[in-house]
Amino acid sequence: MNQGSIGIRRWLKSFMLKRVHGMITCKEFEDFVLRYCDNELTDRQRSLFERHISICRECREYLVAYQRTMEVSRAVFLSSDDPVPDDVPEDLIKAILKAREE
Ligand SMILES: [Zn+2]
Repeated sequence: MNQGSIGIRRWLKSFMLKRVHGMITCKEFEDFVLRYCDNELTDRQRSLFERHISICRECREYLVAYQRTMEVSRAVFLSSDDPVPDDVPEDLIKAILKAREE
């Protein structure tokens, strides 16, 4: 699959999601993720969020990756003595450390 067809699929999905009443888009989903993980969504926002996950595989994977990233960054932030898991990409560690500096 080339980049172009991925772009079209993304566009089509966001187009379809916008047409469904009460459905959040992938962009809105990204905005919700942080608050979802912090338990700060209202009941209505949470149900929209969970409905989106149930139909959108990309966002489901995004959420899993996000939660994994948060776990890793907690380990990096809180305790530099704990070894970082081997399967964590070097780039991710660098990004977390960079974020900590800012
Ligand atoms: Zn999505």
